[in-house]
Amino acid sequence: MSSPVGIYLSVPFCKAKCSFCNFASDAYGTHRLEGYVDRLCREMAGARERAGQMGVELPGRADSVYLGGGTPSLLSAMQLQKIFVALRGEFEIDPNAEITLECAPGQLAEETLEELLRQGGNRVSLGVQSFVDREAQAVGRTHTRETCLEEIARLQRAGVRDVGMDLIAGLPHQTRASWEESLECAIVSGVTHASVYLLEVDEDSRLGREVMAGGERYGAGRVPGEDEAAELYEMACGALDAGGLGQYEISNFAREGHRSRHNLKYWRRQPYLGLGLDAHSMLRAGAGEVRFQNTDDLETYMNDGSGPLALLREEPAAEWIDREAAFEESMFLGLRVVEGVSLRVLREEFGRERVEAVRPSVEEVCEAGLLVVEGDWIRLTARGRMASNEVFSRLLEDGLPAGPVTLGHPTNEDLFVGTPVRAVTS
Ligand code: SF4
Repeated sequence: MSSPVGIYLSVPFCKAKCSFCNFASDAYGTHRLEGYVDRLCREMAGARERAGQMGVELPGRADSVYLGGGTPSLLSAMQLQKIFVALRGEFEIDPNAEITLECAPGQLAEETLEELLRQGGNRVSLGVQSFVDREAQAVGRTHTRETCLEEIARLQRAGVRDVGMDLIAGLPHQTRASWEESLECAIVSGVTHASVYLLEVDEDSRLGREVMAGGERYGAGRVPGEDEAAELYEMACGALDAGGLGQYEISNFAREGHRSRHNLKYWRRQPYLGLGLDAHSMLRAGAGEVRFQNTDDLETYMNDGSGPLALLREEPAAEWIDREAAFEESMFLGLRVVEGVSLRVLREEFGRERVEAVRPSVEEVCEAGLLVVEGDWIRLTARGRMASNEVFSRLLEDGLPAGPVTLGHPTNEDLFVGTPVRAVTS
C-alpha cells in the first residue's frame, strides 16, 4: 500500500500585506474568498485526473493537512467546512491526522475555531514574528503582545493540542535585549512549537527591496546587520532549547512529541500535494518523483483554463527528480533535521558506490567540525547548522579538489536552502 500523502492548502488572503512578506499572498479582499474556496474545491475534485495526466501517483489516504497562506484563519466556518467536505470527498483522512491552520493573532473567529475542532483540527500556527509591539508594527502587523498572548491562551483553553508560533530574527529595530524578550514570551506562553526564521532580504518584499536599494520608509536602516542577525539566531537556539523547545530542524523547535509531522514530510522527501495559489507538490512517479508548482498569479488560478493542468506554472511546469537529484535532496533536506541522515538508508536507496563517492567530502567537513558521523548516521553539528549551505555544497562537490571550509554566519540560504516549506505563517 502506498504511503499516505500530506496535503497543503494555500489560502493567500491577508488583511494587509506585511512589509517583509515575499509570498504570493495579498490583501485581495475577503469578498473574493468565497470564489477562491470554490476554485480550491474544484482543484481538489480534479486532482486525481491531473495526477493521471502527469503520470504521478496520488495516494488516496492523507495523514496531514496544512492550511497555510496567507491567512487561512480569515475563512468563515462555512468556508472551512466546504473545504473539508471537498477534501474528504477525495481523500480518506486518517483519524489521527495532523491538521494545522495558520492564523494571524486576533484574526480567528470563534465559529471558525469551533469548525476547525469539529473537523479534527489539532494544530494552530500563529504568525507572531515579534512580541515587541514596536517591531511588529514596524513591519505592518496589526497585533500587540497582548493580542498574541490572549490568542495563545484562548487556543489552549479551547483544547487545540498544538499551539505554535513563528518568530523572525532580524526585524527592524530588533536588538539582543528585545529579541530576548520575544524568546522569553514564547517560552512562558507554553506553546509547543516555534519556528525561527531570518528576515529574508530579496526583491519580493517591500522591506527587502528597501534594504537592497536604501531608504527609510519600511525601516531598512534599522534592520540588524548579518552578523547581528546570526547572533540572534544562535540566541534563539540556546534559549528555546533551555526553555524546553528542543531544536529538531534548522529553523524549528518543539516540545517533546510536538514536532510538525506535516513539515517533516518535506525534509524526509515523503509525498505531498499542494493545492491553491503557488502551492508546491512532490509525488511519486514509478521509481522516482516529480515536483510541480501551481501558478502564483491569482487571476490565472481563478480562471479554470483548459483543464486540470492549466493551473501549473508555465516554466518549469513539472520537474522530474532523477536519481542523482534525489540523492542530493536526501542529503541536504535530511541533514536539516537534527538526527541527520542514515547512511544505511542512503545505501539501500542509491547504492553503496554513490554513498562511498561522498565519503571524502564527509570526512573533510567532519574535520572542520561541521558534521559528525555517529554509527550509521551523519548529522550537522551546531556550528554546521550555522553554515549549512556551505556544508551542503561541499558534500555535493564530489570529485572537486578540496579547499578550506569557511565558517561564516548563517545566511538566508542556510536557513531556507532546498526547503519548499513556507517560511513564515500569517
Ligand atoms: S506575513 Fe503572513 S499575514 Fe503578513 S502578508 Fe505575509 S502571509 Fe500575510
